[in-house]
Parts: sequence; structure tokens; C-alpha cells
Amino acid sequence: SSFGFRDVDAREKVQMVRGVFNSVASNYDLMNDLMSVGVHRVWKDAAAAKLNARPGEVILDVAGGTGDMSRRYSKMARAAQERRGGEDAKVIVLDYNAEMILAGVHKGGEPEMVWSVGDAMSLPLPDASVDAYSISFGIRNVADIPVALKEARRVLKPGGRFMCLEFSRPTTAVMRKAYDAWSFNAIPAIGQLVAKDRDSYQYLVESIRRFPDQQTFKTMIEDAGFSRVSVTNLTGGVAAIHHGWAI
Ligand code: SAM
Repeated sequence: SSFGFRDVDAREKVQMVRGVFNSVASNYDLMNDLMSVGVHRVWKDAAAAKLNARPGEVILDVAGGTGDMSRRYSKMARAAQERRGGEDAKVIVLDYNAEMILAGVHKGGEPEMVWSVGDAMSLPLPDASVDAYSISFGIRNVADIPVALKEARRVLKPGGRFMCLEFSRPTTAVMRKAYDAWSFNAIPAIGQLVAKDRDSYQYLVESIRRFPDQQTFKTMIEDAGFSRVSVTNLTGGVAAIHHGWAI
């Protein structure tokens, strides 16, 4: 089906994804730069601008990994606070892989950041407790995506924002061709060369292919109870930002 992963038992998938990230945590930042030719930084800037972290807000960065998005949110909220006052923001980085969290702590945080280990499918937070929910290059790996989206809806306050940055479908034939060549040949080769792990990166490429396209994923977000869901394509749809409101 277009939702992907129906062919893989959920538990098996969790094990597989955990294995992938255990093996890549140490090489994680280098690999991101190599695989995306540095473009992931530009995408993350665009996604952070879309989320628009403000002073006093509680922001939840799910599948936050080593904290790339959370650092942006912290600085953004602080810059606004310096201009017009307000309380400190609180930015919660949550990831189910403690190794990623440890790598992030090692890399260094911001005063607003809190690191935590937990699962996107059962968030350790009360209902209506966060102003903004962010998931960047994480939802694709979640075993049951509708469950994670329901959890996002549950923890958001009324008027809260949902923002997801994820690989998507290139929108033109030219971009699709270039992207296929890069992802099927270069990415596994770089994985082998740098991380000595071709299979994990092959799996990442396949998981991108299986992930629903822009419109299908938009519908899934709406089905979880979000309103005014919008899609912003990045680099010709190689990645996309989905944004919605909890009303
Ligand atoms: N958000 C970071 C970024 O954009 O750089 C990290 C993205 S990394 C590709 C994906 C992360 O998702 C990994 O750190 C992995 O441990 C985490 N992850 C996957 N499934 C998860 C789940 N069900 N709950 C929490 N974290 C999950």
C-alpha cells in the first residue's frame, strides 16, 4: 500500500530501525552532510522558520536525534525574547535511541533544551501540554505513523502547530532521475566508504521510497485531526515540510 511498511511486521521494523541508528549515531552528522551535499542544513533552516518558535513556548522535537532542530528553535525563541521580552522557551528533544541523545549532549545544547528518551508512538507527556510539535526526518522510521500523528495531536494545546520535515517525492521528471541516480548509487556507496555499512544506508534509501507522497501524507495528517494542513516542497520535492494546526 502507499502507506508503506505494511509488508513488514511493526516490531521487526522497530528492531531494524534501532539497528540502523545504533550503527550510524557516531557518523551521523558527517553522513548527513555527505548524503545531502550539505542541503539538509538549508532544509532544516526552512523548517525551523516555518515552525516559528516563540518566547515562553513549549516545543517538542520528536525523533530529535542529536538536536539539530532544537538548537535552531532555542536560538530563534531567544532572539525574539531579546527583541520583545517574554519567558524562556522550553525545547524538549525526544528520541528513542539513547545513543543519539548522548551524541547530541556531547555536541552541546542550548539553555532552553531538555534531552529525553522516549517513543513517538507513546509520548511521555500529558494531553494539551505543548505549543509546537516538530518531527524532522523521523516520521518515516516510525512503525505506526497514524499512531504517532494521533500522539502529536494529543499533546498539542488548542491552537498548537504541527511541523514535519521529511523526504518526499521529486515533483519533476528531471529531478526524479537525478535523485534516483544519487540515492540508489551514491548514498549506499558513501555508506560503505564512510560508515562501513552499505546495508543500513540501502535501507534508508528504500524507506524514503516507501514513504507516502506529499498529498497522501497530508491526508494522513488531516485524518489525525489537524486543520489547515499545508505542504512546502524543498529542492523540487526531494524533501517537504508539512504544517498543520491543532484546533
Ligand atoms: N531530527 C534529527 C535531524 O533532523 O537531524 C534526527 C533525524 S534521524 C534521521 C531519525 C531519528 O529518529 C533517529 O535519531 C531515531 O532514533 C529516531 N526515531 C525513529 N523512530 C522513533 C520513534 N518511534 N520514537 C522516537 N524516535 C525515533
